[in-house]
Amino acid sequence: MKHASQNTIAQNIKSIRNLVSDAEKKYSRQPGSVQLLAVSKTHPIEDIRTAFAENQLHFGENYLQDALSKIEHSPDQSIEWHFIGPIQSNKTRQIAQNFSWVHTIDRLKIAQRLSEQRNPEQKPLNVCIQVNTSGESSKSGISIEETLTLAKQISELANIQLRGLMTIPAATDNFDLQRRPFRMLRELKEELQSHGIEMDTLSMGMTNDMEAAIAEGSTMVRIGTAIFGQRNKKD
Ligand SMILES: *Cc1c(COP(=O)(O)O)cnc(C)c1O
Repeated sequence: MKHASQNTIAQNIKSIRNLVSDAEKKYSRQPGSVQLLAVSKTHPIEDIRTAFAENQLHFGENYLQDALSKIEHSPDQSIEWHFIGPIQSNKTRQIAQNFSWVHTIDRLKIAQRLSEQRNPEQKPLNVCIQVNTSGESSKSGISIEETLTLAKQISELANIQLRGLMTIPAATDNFDLQRRPFRMLRELKEELQSHGIEMDTLSMGMTNDMEAAIAEGSTMVRIGTAIFGQRNKKD
């Protein structure tokens, strides 16, 4: 029962796409402005193939070793892999060489290593800065106050392209409370843009807070459970 069947995954992708486009309409967002990142961590390559058959091209993974074996068996070259887990500095080379996107940059040292280790013949690695919008209740992400400095530094690096900001807020079921950290992230992006930093991405919204994120301007929702079903407890 752990893994959703092929039919279920295909159905789930269709219903998530409908929810996304309904939310785009409801909150006066441009149609197609919210991209769906399918978070396939812990799920087998077969599930990725099923999603790919529904034209899903962007997949998110958190665990490097698992991800590398899936990338090796990738159903198609056009698939883009996004690293969305915590990054240890001894793992940056494999991340730099195998992914198109990294969403979880929260210190300069990691960004520098990724830039140095990215093959200059590849397209630049797309990166988002992970911001802590929940204060003390979260350990991951840089503080709002430190983000401008880090963004300026990352903008100087050769082989990575700063695309935007990402956040994982503390969980709550209250819609208005869900919107708050997402609004903070959108306002932070606008502030950085006013300082001349170019960005086009807000990576925010998961299965339980997707609508709130779209209401506040998300351009990429990262959806796991609602597509692939429940994960094993270790996550
Ligand atoms: C697991 C994970 C997701 C997906 O979460 P769901 O609640 O299953 O949709 C999104 N973003 C990150 C960073 C994750 O680790």
